[in-house]
Amino acid sequence: MDAARAQQLHNALARVNQRIDAACMTAGRDPSEVHLIVVTKFFPASDIALLQAEGVTDVGENRDQEAGPKLAELGAVAPGVRERLGVHFVGQLQTNKAASVAEYADTVHSVDRPRLVTALDRGVRAATERGGRGGRAGPPAGPLGVLLQVDLEEGRRAGRGGVPPTGLAELATAVAATEHLQLRGLMAVAPADGGASATERAFRTLAHCADGIRADHPAASWISAGMSGDLESAIAHGATHLRVGSAILGSRPPLR
Ligand SMILES: *Cc1c(COP(=O)(O)O)cnc(C)c1O
Repeated sequence: MDAARAQQLHNALARVNQRIDAACMTAGRDPSEVHLIVVTKFFPASDIALLQAEGVTDVGENRDQEAGPKLAELGAVAPGVRERLGVHFVGQLQTNKAASVAEYADTVHSVDRPRLVTALDRGVRAATERGGRGGRAGPPAGPLGVLLQVDLEEGRRAGRGGVPPTGLAELATAVAATEHLQLRGLMAVAPADGGASATERAFRTLAHCADGIRADHPAASWISAGMSGDLESAIAHGATHLRVGSAILGSRPPLR
């Protein structure tokens, strides 16, 4: 293992945990209610092993073609790590990749349409029939956790995924009716432009949507929101799961 990289991750993780603690203090929240998911997209399996040694329990990935091979490789480079790792799929998901993601993910954060619900449910069933999913050595990992991604841009930017708030109740009902999926809550990405006030407004809307969903589905208590740049605001508005990448792993190569 690369000792310099380990030190870098250790320091960055400490800084992010300090930010989380400070934001919880300001918001009057207990830090144990706020879970950190480290988004490891673009970074190697070896980083996941180092992060776990630093106490990270959960990672996020956003592309199936990267996540599948990386998690498989993890077994080879770091025996025992994969079995104890929570894996979250946080990116936009094509229906034809759903079965693959259902093999290794514990939770999918980006469910935004009925066809994807059907495809994931089928994928979990198929994987379970083959003897397990989640890449675990032990028994099958059970149902797949699902979050509904809310479109907080009010349709201004098509293509980033998400269901408008008005479509949430129906989609939640569809998830609840499946055999292999478990509705865990809501997820959102703050608008890319509009600054701090737009972010605040978006997270406030998300909290309001989450109240609505919980009224009908009491177990759906997760609010997945907050990234490197806006985790304080997300915590102020009730986020339970943060998805933090670059503040811990460093900057990623620019998107092609
Ligand atoms: C990459 C990504 C993140 C992490 O973003 P950072 O700004 O690097 O913290 C969070 N959520 C989703 C959906 C992502 O794709």
